[in-house]
Amino acid sequence: MVNDYSHLKDNLRRALDAIGEAASQAHRDPSEVRVVAVTKNHPPEAVRAAFQAGISLIGENRVQEALAKRGELEDLDVTWLMIGHLQRNKVRKALEVFHQVHSLDSMELALALNRVLSEGAGEGRRPPLPVLLEVNVSGEAAKHGVMPQGALQLAETVLERCPMLDLKGLMCVGPLTEDEREIRSAFASLREIRDRLEERLLIELPELSMGMSSDFHLAVMEGSTMVRLGTCLFGPRGVF
Ligand SMILES: *Cc1c(COP(=O)(O)O)cnc(C)c1O
Repeated sequence: MVNDYSHLKDNLRRALDAIGEAASQAHRDPSEVRVVAVTKNHPPEAVRAAFQAGISLIGENRVQEALAKRGELEDLDVTWLMIGHLQRNKVRKALEVFHQVHSLDSMELALALNRVLSEGAGEGRRPPLPVLLEVNVSGEAAKHGVMPQGALQLAETVLERCPMLDLKGLMCVGPLTEDEREIRSAFASLREIRDRLEERLLIELPELSMGMSSDFHLAVMEGSTMVRLGTCLFGPRGVF
């Protein structure tokens, strides 16, 4: 597939306008919402184009793919975010490329990350590693993420047993539906889970990563601080 990313700046401007619109409807400051460029299944040039357009948060969902791209982009000062399911046996490799993990979905993964980081992995960067807990707010079987009722225990595990991890907030993928009310209510429940965790654990969890190309305006209305945009910035995904 040929894709020169010449429309990226226009696409980004449109997305930022939509974020501004949704934020103002919700009486929020649009600067509270950052854009993560999701470059999975796009070549390294997509990351470079995003950086040139002013985006420094890059989301990838596969370790090998991110490693391959990162090798060609050593000159870019971007923050690599893991947003896909991370297998425990890939933790060491993942820490070679990712600066943050936004898809922390199990106690085992938290402990594995903590262990590998305490052995000194994650070359060139200092722990603690910023993490977000991925919560399966829609309860769909195909989705990753800890179930809402397991979020407290997972958060406690991170706080009590994982000094190498820095819990910053929560992440979710919205439900697969076109029903806007259902989508909004899923995003609202992520925010409510966050609020409850803050109360129970007496911590601050400022980050809510929610909203993708098709639903980010709804996520912004419900308090998103990070929208993860792929298709609406880069066009359809090819095979990298
Ligand atoms: C692919 C992906 C995105 C981006 O999806 P688009 O619909 O292309 O914007 C966001 N978040 C996660 C977790 C993804 O896997």
